[in-house]
Amino acid sequence: MRLPRVAALALALLPVACTVESAEEFAPRDDDPMGDSVDVSEAGSIGVRVPSSLNLDRSRKFYLTFDDGPSAQYTPQILATLRAHNAPATFFVTGANIAGNESILRDIVARGHLLASHQWSHVNASVANFRLWVPRQATLLDTVVGSPIPRLFRYPYGAGSAEKETILRANGYSHGGIGWDVDTLDWCYGGGGGRCDRASAQYRSDFVGWTVSEAARRGGGVILFHDIQGVTARNLDTILTRLEAMGFTFAQLPSTQPTVTAPTVTATPVPSCTVTAETANVRNRPDGDVVGTLMRGATVSVRGASGDWYSVRYTQAGAELGTDSAPRFMHRTVMSCR
Ligand SMILES: [Zn+2]
Repeated sequence: MRLPRVAALALALLPVACTVESAEEFAPRDDDPMGDSVDVSEAGSIGVRVPSSLNLDRSRKFYLTFDDGPSAQYTPQILATLRAHNAPATFFVTGANIAGNESILRDIVARGHLLASHQWSHVNASVANFRLWVPRQATLLDTVVGSPIPRLFRYPYGAGSAEKETILRANGYSHGGIGWDVDTLDWCYGGGGGRCDRASAQYRSDFVGWTVSEAARRGGGVILFHDIQGVTARNLDTILTRLEAMGFTFAQLPSTQPTVTAPTVTATPVPSCTVTAETANVRNRPDGDVVGTLMRGATVSVRGASGDWYSVRYTQAGAELGTDSAPRFMHRTVMSCR
């Protein structure tokens, strides 16, 4: 299969080796450092708030989101529970957890859920790293699932900034960082031995009670879970059942697709061209990320041109590549067309 090979290549190019922690080894994570006393001033809320551009209908509707995965241990169980409730969800995955979990990622998409980004590494990233990581993770996820994933992003710890928002938008993430309305504090119940001092007093030993009461208090919106938490995998069915009994329903976040800039056609389409370079990089947009390689003698057809870049279509391993939804570009100097 072409996809795993390209994914492996993309990983091999990474300068920093990323370790995949097991779910049990994950330290408790605070995705909401400001809790309910969140400062809703403009600067303080970047990354924590739910952008108004999503236009969510919050009237007794919940949007389920799962961060930090995928987890080979818990994500499949969560997927089964979601199917039983016919509930859609969005999985904000961490780049370091992609390798080895590719089949889970494809399963998430095949079941109609959204696959989204929770940054390459689960840290409060420097701007320099953030600029490198955003396109790297998007390209790798696109490659793993074989089609562009929605450009939806959530910052680890909700730690966004104006500069990072600009980088996200430049990479097609038009909503910027996506926060949450309901924090289940599952990391805290899961990692804190069943007690969570961040919850109100009556629910400190009651994850389900806290989550359901907090959801009911908000009345709708985005719910934050973590699919690396066993406490979530074990209790999700009960939580969803109780919310349904209260008349709530579950809806999907808008699936914002990457903006595909159609090349300005300045050349007549050419049905058959031959790669003349030893190896030729294939990119997802003119001068964009490398998403594949063709060898000398490979044939492509040119659909159009954008300056010196040709929009190409070709067949590889039985799959047709170079479509409107997954464009492929090659520089005109690597091929000869008649
Ligand atoms: Zn996280």
